[in-house]
Amino acid sequence: MRIDLHTHSTRSDGTDTPTELVRAAKAAGLDGVALTDHDATEGWDEAQRAADEVGIRLVRGIEVSTTFHGSSVHLLGYDFDPAYEPLVEELGRVLGGRTQRLPRLLDKLAEHGMPLTEQEVLAVAGDAAAWGRPHVADAMIAKGYIKDRDEAFRDWLVPGKPAYVGRYSADLFEAVRLLREAGGKPVIAHAWARDSRDKVTAEVFAELAQAGLAGIEVDHPDHDERDRADLADIAKQLDLVRTGSSDYHGTGKGPEFHLGANTTDPEQLERLLS
Ligand code: AMP
Ligand code: ZN
Ligand code: FE
Ligand code: FE
Repeated sequence: MRIDLHTHSTRSDGTDTPTELVRAAKAAGLDGVALTDHDATEGWDEAQRAADEVGIRLVRGIEVSTTFHGSSVHLLGYDFDPAYEPLVEELGRVLGGRTQRLPRLLDKLAEHGMPLTEQEVLAVAGDAAAWGRPHVADAMIAKGYIKDRDEAFRDWLVPGKPAYVGRYSADLFEAVRLLREAGGKPVIAHAWARDSRDKVTAEVFAELAQAGLAGIEVDHPDHDERDRADLADIAKQLDLVRTGSSDYHGTGKGPEFHLGANTTDPEQLERLLS
């Protein structure tokens, strides 16, 4: 059984529609796939129809943008009530923050000789419920300003670079609580990707477990062998589920993020969802 628990569709910043994504998961030999778009559940119904058609298991999920002591932490959530009002309200604030950031971000790009209109960004974002920096990058590419998304994230759209603008994110512990209240299972995404190893420490994981965290995404393309070994130890000590995923974004991210790049042990999945 091969199950990939973290993927993105065009409903956020992936490049496959939910239907294309599910079909690609089947073609990649997966038995199950979770759709975890950023801050949005709009893709669930379409993905479920496609999953029923091709005969693959769909796990309904989300990746919530949160902050912990000023750092961005992504929190996966699985199998929750998407209509739970306090969660819907918080996701509304996060999506609002994405929209509010756009004018200032575009001002900064214009100051650096790369004018773009809001319409041009929203056009490449298509039917996304959560638009993000990858869409701004795509609009920059369409204008010929840069070559690919990587260049946007290397030179322009990240903290310390000329066109970075912060946005509202949910408080990490609050998001864990809201997902739990909605009947869901919160899992820290790519916990130690980039510079997070010193921030989400073993002590923080212990506090999160107390607060209702269900698992840690141990196997992720951004984690090296040492990260995985240490995170697996922490999961074991805290009796948290260990998940593995690709963080597939279609052609929006490199080949190391291909469907099934990492998978989740079926026993771990059953424990997570039980
Ligand atoms: P935002 O949603 O606006 O905060 O943008 C963050 C998103 O950009 C995340 O989903 C990442 O997967 C994506 N991202 C980060 N770095 C890169 C990169 N180098 N190339 C493509 N996508 C990236
Ligand atoms: Zn993304
Ligand atoms: Fe993420
Ligand atoms: Fe992701």
